[in-house]
Amino acid sequence: MTDQEKAAKLAASTDMAPVQGTVDVDIPIETLWAGFVHANFWPRWNKCFFWAHNKDLVEGQHLIWTFQPIKPWLPYKMWAIANIVELLPQQKVTWEVTALPGMYARHTYHMEDLGNGRSRFGSWEQGMGWGFRPMRWFWLKHFTFVKDESLIGAKRLEDLYLKTGRLDPNDLPKKSYVRFWIIVVLLLALLAGAIGCGVFYCKYVQVSATELAPGVYAFLGGGGNSLLVESGGQSLLVDTKFGPGSAALHRWIVKHDAAPVSAIVNTHYHYDHTQGNSLYSGADKIAYADVPALMRRNDEDWWASHADGLPTDLVSGERLLKVGSVEVRVEHPTAAAHTFGDLWVYLPQQNIIATGDLVFHRYYPFMDQPEGGTSIPGMIGAARTLAREHPDAVFLPGHGPLATASDLLHYADFLQAMQDAAVAARAAGWSEEEAAKRNDLAKWGLSVLPSFHHKELIWATAANDARWAYVLAGETAHPAE
Ligand SMILES: [Zn+2]
Repeated sequence: MTDQEKAAKLAASTDMAPVQGTVDVDIPIETLWAGFVHANFWPRWNKCFFWAHNKDLVEGQHLIWTFQPIKPWLPYKMWAIANIVELLPQQKVTWEVTALPGMYARHTYHMEDLGNGRSRFGSWEQGMGWGFRPMRWFWLKHFTFVKDESLIGAKRLEDLYLKTGRLDPNDLPKKSYVRFWIIVVLLLALLAGAIGCGVFYCKYVQVSATELAPGVYAFLGGGGNSLLVESGGQSLLVDTKFGPGSAALHRWIVKHDAAPVSAIVNTHYHYDHTQGNSLYSGADKIAYADVPALMRRNDEDWWASHADGLPTDLVSGERLLKVGSVEVRVEHPTAAAHTFGDLWVYLPQQNIIATGDLVFHRYYPFMDQPEGGTSIPGMIGAARTLAREHPDAVFLPGHGPLATASDLLHYADFLQAMQDAAVAARAAGWSEEEAAKRNDLAKWGLSVLPSFHHKELIWATAANDARWAYVLAGETAHPAE
């Protein structure tokens, strides 16, 4: 189709009547045209343009620019590209827009000599097509905005001409893009933040439930992993997470109509396994003997206002419990391991063991350092013992997905490598910083794990594990409670 045929088709279209207007200005036609042809100056005088690329108008070339939004507060800039199809100096320029599917539009700026140094400047625009019609309401507003701002712009040029005796758009204040780029950068930062928060939430905060055996559920994430054992009209909960994961776990229990939680076992004192305790006010709270003292010592503020969450049913040996018909054994390692007061929970009928933080599966572990409870040899011993005594058990680790006995042995190997590296670093006379920097634990390919405690975000990483192990290797004896 030739250009004339397309123009004729548009003229015959009933999709919209052209949006047009003119304004008369006290500028001689040759001066007006000479000032007008520099498209890159349009944003300086014509406020419908945010930016324009072309220095000159050339028939057959592309015109590239960006529109301002039809209302200043609307959060968009509209990119546009058009073909210049008609260029008659001191008369008119026309371009056609074909970049949008199903839409054809033409825009003409025209001018005519009125004599006596006066000119008429006009803007004309029309669109059509199946892609145009559903958005007709918008395009009419947009075309009107373009026409109005263009005519106001021509008067702006007239002001400039009358004031300076010439028409050099360089005399107009340069458009500043600083604000625009600040907003773009802020929006990108917000977007990155939102995506980051989403990833962080799904990875570390969200709680997911898995049924391991009839009436036995694992809850991964949202703090330390939890285990729910339900039988005979009562429930036992192992570890209660911390907010907001603790609330999500509590909601799940209520929503699924689980039997009331009559007992809680805390595998150790750490906040991410225990701060949800107060949500189960009526439950018997079981923990190792040292745990309430450790809780008060390390999280005084929290437990002062959540005293009903402190364990009162303390064990120092093995404890046998019954939840309905399910047998539950609460056991503890022979020595300090992850902390001074670790327990694990064993369901012999189902062969399921909730290890608490004696096992971090696929994550770099946190250690009870500088609180002083961790014994790396104790952790190695506990992981190996559990794996040896329960070769076919399903292990619910303190953090990470379900694990097997061979996963526990692999974890013990990691701990041993970490310990050996720390001892070697000390023997070589490295500083703590050097030990952290020169560690090669990254080759274990574990994932990093965040902890948000005492208003501080810290990460279990290869470097931090090397650092903590280095410090622990220098402690000859653990302070007794
Ligand atoms: Zn822990």
